Amino acid sequence: MIARDVNTAIDRLRALVDEASVIVPFTGAGISTECGIPDFRSPGGIWSRMRPIDFSDFIASQEARDESWRRRFAMEEQFGGAKPGRGHRALASLYRAGKLPGVVTQNIDNLHQASGISAEHVVELHGNTTYASCLDCAARYELPWVRERYLAAGARAPACPECDGYIKTATVSFGQAMPQEAMRGAEELTLSADLFIAIGSSLVVWPAAGFPLMAKRNGARLVIINRDPTEFDDVADLVVRHDIGAVLDPFATRADA
Ligand SMILES: [Zn+2]
Repeated sequence: MIARDVNTAIDRLRALVDEASVIVPFTGAGISTECGIPDFRSPGGIWSRMRPIDFSDFIASQEARDESWRRRFAMEEQFGGAKPGRGHRALASLYRAGKLPGVVTQNIDNLHQASGISAEHVVELHGNTTYASCLDCAARYELPWVRERYLAAGARAPACPECDGYIKTATVSFGQAMPQEAMRGAEELTLSADLFIAIGSSLVVWPAAGFPLMAKRNGARLVIINRDPTEFDDVADLVVRHDIGAVLDPFATRADA
């Protein structure tokens, strides 16, 4: 069923949420756009205007590492200042209510954690851009630390003081292998769901495309909330093409606001 308006969507979603005992959301860029986080992959998004830096280029060249960090610091106003939106707050409320064991996300913005979901219950398929790590020894570095050294070296990406490895945001770059632990975590959560809600993802990019069907085949109900149609709309129990924040807002308990 495709919800014809926001109120129908809310009523139908309320019924599905009430009937569910394990709700697993899968979130994409659409849940964070109201927070000022750009959708990199959308038409007109950053990746359509500026070629992303491949992982192999990052490894191969100091210039690529310098440029990668230059771009990241240029984005800090958006990422650093972003606060969870209505969708994040709604999911955090369901988490606190014990109905939602964790969230699988394609987003790298840390906003699920900021909304109150414990980091161990956020499965990040594409990593996290709000901190950095050494590619060799996995030591974690905070962005202000990286920036200080980057600027002191004349806009040069710093190396790891422990092992001289390359320091990169903790994201999964184009050309970089999917993190196996995250993939396992996402699969485990998906198979635990009796209600799977895909939110703000076009469900096109692998591995995102695999999870809604995995949930559905496992007997879960499937809800898709996305501005544009997806190729899974036909098998979904509920399809919502209205504003994500408006549809999820009633599911946030006011104490979280
Ligand atoms: Zn290191």
